[in-house]
Amino acid sequence: AAEGPDALLDGLNPQQREAVLHTGSPLLVVAGAGSGKTKVLTHRIGYLLAARDVHPGQVMAITFTNKAAAEMKERVTALVGPRANAMWVSTFHSMCVRLLRREAKQLRELLDSDMSSSFSIYDADDTRRLVTLVARDLDLDPKRYPARTLAAHVSNHKNELIDPQRAAALAAGDLERRVAEVYAAYQRRLGEANALDFDDLIMRTVQLLQAFPEVAEHYRRRFRHVLVDEYQDTNHAQYVLVRELVGTEADSEVEPSELCVVGDADQSIYAFRGATIRNIVEFERDFPNARTILLEQNYRSTQTILSAANAVIARNPNRRDKRLWTEAGDGHKIIGYVADNEHDEAAFVASEIDKLVDSGECGNGDIAVFYRTNHQSRVFEEIFIRLGLPYRVVGGVRFYERREVRDALAYLRVLANPEDTVSLRRILNVPKRGIGDRAESCVSAHAERERVSFAAALREAAAGRIPELNPRSQRAIAGFVDLVDELRGLVDAGEDVAAVLDAVLDRTGYRAELEASDDPQDGSRLDNLTELVTVAREFTEGAGPVEEAEEAADVPAQDSLAAFLERVSLVADSDSVPEQGEGVVTLMTLHTAKGLEFPVVFCTGWEDGVFPHLRALSEPAELAEERRLAYVGITRARQRLYLSRSLMRSAWGQPVTNPASRFLDEIPHDLLDWRRVESERSGPSAATTWGRRSTGGDSAQAGLAERGMRTTSFRGWRSGGEAAAPALKLEVGDRVNHDKYGLGTVVATEGSGPRATATIDFGSAGTIKLMLIGGVPLVKL
Ligand code: ATP
Ligand code: MG
Repeated sequence: AAEGPDALLDGLNPQQREAVLHTGSPLLVVAGAGSGKTKVLTHRIGYLLAARDVHPGQVMAITFTNKAAAEMKERVTALVGPRANAMWVSTFHSMCVRLLRREAKQLRELLDSDMSSSFSIYDADDTRRLVTLVARDLDLDPKRYPARTLAAHVSNHKNELIDPQRAAALAAGDLERRVAEVYAAYQRRLGEANALDFDDLIMRTVQLLQAFPEVAEHYRRRFRHVLVDEYQDTNHAQYVLVRELVGTEADSEVEPSELCVVGDADQSIYAFRGATIRNIVEFERDFPNARTILLEQNYRSTQTILSAANAVIARNPNRRDKRLWTEAGDGHKIIGYVADNEHDEAAFVASEIDKLVDSGECGNGDIAVFYRTNHQSRVFEEIFIRLGLPYRVVGGVRFYERREVRDALAYLRVLANPEDTVSLRRILNVPKRGIGDRAESCVSAHAERERVSFAAALREAAAGRIPELNPRSQRAIAGFVDLVDELRGLVDAGEDVAAVLDAVLDRTGYRAELEASDDPQDGSRLDNLTELVTVAREFTEGAGPVEEAEEAADVPAQDSLAAFLERVSLVADSDSVPEQGEGVVTLMTLHTAKGLEFPVVFCTGWEDGVFPHLRALSEPAELAEERRLAYVGITRARQRLYLSRSLMRSAWGQPVTNPASRFLDEIPHDLLDWRRVESERSGPSAATTWGRRSTGGDSAQAGLAERGMRTTSFRGWRSGGEAAAPALKLEVGDRVNHDKYGLGTVVATEGSGPRATATIDFGSAGTIKLMLIGGVPLVKL
């Protein structure tokens, strides 16, 4: 039900109100966690619609995750009713896809290629595959120039809006020159594949708006209000995009649109993706006559939790001090726990959850468990399953990253976009149909030689026009080409996505192969594929978002397959997993937790080397970023916060002893209630006792365990232990390559075993001391 404008102001404090009511000049709301920044954005939108006669179609709001976008849309709908549907509320990526598909003609002109509106979106894995192909073509030694490093450098260029020509002009040193070469070739290959990668989505949109002023003006006329949440995590390209969308006085006859951004420099945690707090710190310089509003009251957490967060973040240098306060009262003390090892830690978390839920204080859905890196979820999952504690993992080895899911989607992508080389090569011999590596390189060489696409070369091969191919391979390729044509016929005939997917799984023999297998993993692969068909069916039935009429008219009708793929690639991007039911414990990394809140939060793994992360120990800038992550983690909690660490933890298959996280020491001791400290260590974790659930009858337990399983089966099963990466042995004079710092020379070494360190001269990146335990992204050349 829609509410009147006044109701939208009720309960807001004076600063929040001011932010909702502000008109005209650009507005920046800066404030600490839980002070209502997101609430202000939502209410501001509501107020625009209810009181300022703004049409929903004139509003564009940008959030950091798809989940946040969905929530915001829901909240605005609750405030103003279904009219809210005509707004564009999405992540930067989704917004750009939408814009680029609408402007396909200009995009073609910009790229000087026949990029169609059904372009594929390459995610990190596709990108790495394509970079690998490109690097191979350029004869680059993969040890010296790992695809991951090259891809990261290319990504940095795109985030800075540097095109291949400029990258080449700017390149100093061997690595940068190689990167520039790879970048140019990679962009060409993307174009041939009719694909854009994630960074392209932003960069190309900016380029398009800059190259076609009439297009930019169209969007400026349309979106009179642009709002951005989590502004501290925008990178340069995203900042320029916002500027282009809003426009300036000088740009055109159109008045600049109203801009409202909210953020918190203390929560900037994506520097590694090019995000820069410069965007928030220099907002007033970027947008003259901007207004800045500060919020200081926190509505989320108890004073105890806030004091802990304030104390930790206060240790960061070069920040503007701000004091958050709350009326909520002190609340419970923070509970600390020192575990013997990671299993003991997980057991502690599980038993506390059990107690909290049993006492009726909260439900499973009110509880979140955070950790620093994805693989840490495994021990929690194991014990939760054993105990039948229902949970979901957000992020991690996700459903959409499973091999079988990617295979099936690659088929669909080839059907939607015949030129998609990465997908085409992925499925060429999957399931095996006798098209070996030799035949594939033969086709690829032909494509290079004749300067045609891989798809075109395949057709040549099928028609017998590549003489180097042996007849058996030729027949196999002809069969494959026919199969794809046949499947594409279904799409052209208007079959819905679920039916097409079903046909793919049947006619390729993919399903039959899994059914015939007695490998239990193949059983879960089948389940995942069944789940994917369900996702497709729900997509068709859901029929996508309600669009305003103007909008609906310019979306091509053939595009339900493309729309499905787009949705899948964007969902697979950041957050997220489709929503699970209520009532399950949420497991996620600290990064994913941004913007969310839970009554009860367990922050685990507070050990130097885990959190703060190993890489950060020797580098002040990274340490500051880890500290902001700690601030984010602590401030997610509303009532209860637990902080735990393990004395021992196995890392890459070896037990490692980690000291307490330095962040623990930064919290005033009187805020913490230690349940168990180091000196009380009492041997094996058998000491932990379980609630009644674990002692229940076998069948009940199995039932619960199954329920626990089912909540996770959708995002798939962790496939067990991590790859063993033995500690590096380095000597003075060794040449190394680091994922981030590039090439370097070892100038000193110290210690041995898990304590080994090396001091490495990385040239312009500086001389850095690194611990050499497994996991350090360093290779010896
Ligand atoms: P973060 O920095 O973590 O993203 P935020 O500043 O966006 O936090 P919100 O999520 O908007 O904060 O708000 C935090 C909580 O406080 C929410 O539960 C919100 O509903 C509540 N809240 C915000 N403002 C008020 C208010 N004036 N009165 C009551 N509750 C409020
Ligand atoms: Mg927020």
